[in-house]
Amino acid sequence: MNAHVRFSTEEQRKMLDAELAGRFPDARGRFGPYGGRYVPETLIPALERLEAGMREHLYREDFQRELGSQLRDWVGRPTALSHAPRLSAAWGADIWFKREDLAHTGAHKINNAVGQALLAQRLGARRIVAETGAGQHGVATAAACARLGLPCVVYMGAIDMERQAPNVGRMRLLGAEVVPVTGGDQTLRAAIDEALRDWVADPMGTFYLLGSAVGPHPYPYLVRELQSIIGREARTQFIEQSDRLPDAVFACVGGGSNSIGMFHAFVPDRSVEIIGIEAGGRGVTLGENAASLSYGWPGVLQGCYSLLLQDENGQIHETDSISAGLDYPGVGPEHALLMAAGRVRYESATDSEALAALIECSRLEGILPALETAHALYGAKRWAEKNKGKRAVICMSGRGDKDMPTLQRTLLSGNPGVTS
Ligand SMILES: *Cc1c(COP(=O)(O)O)cnc(C)c1O
Repeated sequence: MNAHVRFSTEEQRKMLDAELAGRFPDARGRFGPYGGRYVPETLIPALERLEAGMREHLYREDFQRELGSQLRDWVGRPTALSHAPRLSAAWGADIWFKREDLAHTGAHKINNAVGQALLAQRLGARRIVAETGAGQHGVATAAACARLGLPCVVYMGAIDMERQAPNVGRMRLLGAEVVPVTGGDQTLRAAIDEALRDWVADPMGTFYLLGSAVGPHPYPYLVRELQSIIGREARTQFIEQSDRLPDAVFACVGGGSNSIGMFHAFVPDRSVEIIGIEAGGRGVTLGENAASLSYGWPGVLQGCYSLLLQDENGQIHETDSISAGLDYPGVGPEHALLMAAGRVRYESATDSEALAALIECSRLEGILPALETAHALYGAKRWAEKNKGKRAVICMSGRGDKDMPTLQRTLLSGNPGVTS
């Protein structure tokens, strides 16, 4: 566990009991020590309105019925649970995939995008704003808005727009307006600031559709509720096919949405090991990775108290990962809580470990996973070495087609350990 945060056994037991009893997030939006709502005064009424609207609509039967039919008929749920026979033979443990790569637009992000877009409609919003870094959340949001007939504006850092040109094209084809952000660091952080500014200007008519289990309360909770269908389906499917629970579940952790979605249903199953894999990048030094839970310190980022990659003066530090979707200096507060409570273990996989796992999975299973997902695959491979014959389910968060430019660049440059 992260050496910068230590809790006594008694504190850990209390945190886990509260999590299991559903007492988090509490009235202040906190998951134990983490979470909350650290935002300028001007944003508080908008967040309060969102929270009240969410509580009113999210669990209503008509909302759940509409969400359920969009997930079934348009997203393609339930996604398959696939056994991976050749990878199992190679690694020595029984490996299964929860196939979010088969969801519409190629990743889990659509579960959240369509859920929040439907909620926006219920709350009477006339337009959606979103931010995007690598562009995947922007594409999912643009698709959901097109489906529901909602105008959509996506803020994107000017540098990211250049790096992720195909996704900019996709968003525009889907009818979204993509606005370049030239201020600040010209990447995701500046784009988030711009989206928030837009939202504050008209908090009634505009809905801010946030892409991961991060940000101020109630977003970490809302995103978890919309993504936890992943783990609920996987748990039921595994029991149906194997007559028992898996021994371990794995997911990659960026902001933490596919992982909290995968993990949440398994948290009460004490026999199931839960393991999140962060981006280990090129090394363990600050700036060389994006592993906030493994190496970060507590602090506030984008309205939320959690673990962050920051220097000794509290300045958010640059991160590095081969996978754009994991390249973020913070992480959702519920993960920080689950680590503090000792229920979930967080490890990391380096760029080259993830690449090697990606190639192995492609060749042995006929599935090209996203670079993000490949981190979870490597984590499962490492676990399998010490757990021969046991059963693991990995959240296949997305497909790797989007990563072809990076893969071609990396493989052509002859990255050692990858080309064999
Ligand atoms: C965005 C993305 C991630 C990382 O985001 P989380 O919120 O941590 O899930 C992981 N995998 C894929 C395929 C993604 O597109």
